[in-house]
Amino acid sequence: MSSLSSVPSAISGNLVTPSPVCNPPKFESNDGFRNALRQRVEEYFDRTGLNPRDCPQMYLKSTLIFGCFVASYVLLVFFAPVWWLALPLMVLLGLSLAGVGFNIQHDGGHGAYSDRRWINRLSAMTLDLLGGSSYIWARKHNAFHHTYPNITGHDDDIDVGILGRLSPHQKRLRLHRLQHVYMWLLYGFLPIKWHFVDDFRSLITGRIGEHRFARPKGWDLLILFGGKAVFFTLAFGVPMLVHPWSTVVLFYVLAMLIQGVVLSVVFQLAHCVEEAEFPMPRDESGRMLSSWAAHQVQTTVDFAPRNRVLSWLLGGLNFQTEHHLFPHICHAHYPALAPIVAQTCEEFGLTYRVNPSFLAGVASHFRWLRRMGMKPAETT
Ligand SMILES: [Zn+2]
Repeated sequence: MSSLSSVPSAISGNLVTPSPVCNPPKFESNDGFRNALRQRVEEYFDRTGLNPRDCPQMYLKSTLIFGCFVASYVLLVFFAPVWWLALPLMVLLGLSLAGVGFNIQHDGGHGAYSDRRWINRLSAMTLDLLGGSSYIWARKHNAFHHTYPNITGHDDDIDVGILGRLSPHQKRLRLHRLQHVYMWLLYGFLPIKWHFVDDFRSLITGRIGEHRFARPKGWDLLILFGGKAVFFTLAFGVPMLVHPWSTVVLFYVLAMLIQGVVLSVVFQLAHCVEEAEFPMPRDESGRMLSSWAAHQVQTTVDFAPRNRVLSWLLGGLNFQTEHHLFPHICHAHYPALAPIVAQTCEEFGLTYRVNPSFLAGVASHFRWLRRMGMKPAETT
């Protein structure tokens, strides 16, 4: 039951194959590190008798977090007649939305929630309810980001357009000098950009960043538009039945700012920090110096591994190294897998990167933004 042999490989586990416009990076095929790691993790599940997915605590956790989302929405829309009641409920709603993303949608999108496909699909579709698109996320996050983390031009997550420079291989503009100050606020607007711009633009252009992707058809297209319709009804239509439109828009923006900052900062602490590397292909062939698994370790950083409250709230996203190596394993197992990954990294001469606390990660992200915004001469 606990064998990993029935589990797709980390790459194929991403469910969709990247189809880039330009030469895709090719990783070194000799991967003793990955083989040793897989064997040890398989032994862990055999020894403990645990299942990599369908963890009972996940079902309880999902009920609590989704319940918090529903309760905060209903109370905010229908039972908060005064601003001092509405404001904390709006904050709780923004945090609940991020919590659904971290804990339910992300595992479902990776097929890590359950062995049953329909449960994963349902979990992943919470993103459609939240105004995004589970179909486009599966391409953008599972395929492009997870296969090519921190490779400039291939990982869409490190491309925020002209407003920010997150990689040393991106062009530096004058305004980036202040990005360590303004970027934190810009993160807040990302959900609004998803809702109104990104998904529709991807649908029209058939591209996510530099990569082409197969546009959704049939049920997938219906879910995408159906999700948007339900979301806009919940976000604007229903509240406008009982509140002025200006109040609804204000609270929508505030809740999204909270969700956007929390989501973005947590994901940025894993890759856009001083401890992470930003490798590029050796030449035009696209060949990388490292194997796929070694690349995940070089480009990913854990944080606050001993903070159990944070691990619970963030859906194990403070263990992103483990997540990138085993995206199809439920996040509830990551704290137990971390020592196995750290030990194997040491044996294979790889640096296992970890910031001891959340604040240490935030400080590292701040320094990275500031360094990327400086002229090269200023960084020495
Ligand atoms: Zn992921």
